[in-house]
Amino acid sequence: MNPEQGRRVAIVTGGARGIGAGIATRLAADGMAVAVLDLDEDACRAVAERISVDGGEALGVGADVTDPAQVDAAVERVAEELGAPTVLVNNAGIIRDNLLFKMDVSEWDAVMNVHLRGAFLMTKACQAYMTREKFGRIVNLSSTSAQGNRGQVNYSAAKAGMQGFTKTLAIELGKFGVTANAIAPGFIETEMTAETAERIGVEFEQLKKAAAGKAAVARTGKPEDIAHTASFLASEGAGFVTGQVIYVAGSPCD
Ligand code: NDP
Repeated sequence: MNPEQGRRVAIVTGGARGIGAGIATRLAADGMAVAVLDLDEDACRAVAERISVDGGEALGVGADVTDPAQVDAAVERVAEELGAPTVLVNNAGIIRDNLLFKMDVSEWDAVMNVHLRGAFLMTKACQAYMTREKFGRIVNLSSTSAQGNRGQVNYSAAKAGMQGFTKTLAIELGKFGVTANAIAPGFIETEMTAETAERIGVEFEQLKKAAAGKAAVARTGKPEDIAHTASFLASEGAGFVTGQVIYVAGSPCD
């Protein structure tokens, strides 16, 4: 934290578990006040309480990122209770995998809505505070799947979309002191990947072993790996880094 700037306020969507909980915990340890935003407010509060026990400041906020009224109310509540949110991590995500010929329109729409509509609504609501404060850090979660992945035509399109969204935010908001960058994780051990294992009928340990076997660093990722990169991108000193997509995948990616 920069003592001249005071404490920054961050919102982490999808913060109740997995990568989002890891990022929220890390940003709080970095000295930010953190709003943990997710669908289930009780689950958000549990993460916020864990952060408080460790000496951090956090608030649990229940909201659906696809709903404009809920997003606006949540961002307003954060501004009132913690202060102007100038750090936003668009992390909320879902998967609805299927091969194209079997995928129905609801599976397409659900994935587009959470990742793209959700990031759009959250960013639009927060940018007013960021531009006013002449400071902002937006971190969007993309994925290595943006490069294409069998059974994920919806998810890969959404995650590639997050990259274009990020670059345009960087161009539009840069002059207000606001940066926007994307993190594209590879295989990270979370409930999301555990559920994938279950859906395809493979033991999670087996799926992890296969992913580790393909990674140059010979291991799978943990939420802390992504949190570390998010911490850098959200930091005061990262103001000249914008519009980038950082692959955090244990292997080189384009
Ligand atoms: P998880 O499924 O573990 O966590 C995602 C969280 O987002 C859940 O708590 C979920 O709530 C929440 N969420 C879903 N929909 C909404 C919504 N409409 N509004 C608010 N919150 C919502 O995922 P991960 O932690 O694994 O992934 C986090 C991000 O990283 C995602 O964007 C994902 O696509 C991306 N990613 C993950 C990778 C991995 O290997 N795990 C690899 C590459 C990218 P609920 O549980 O109630 O649905």
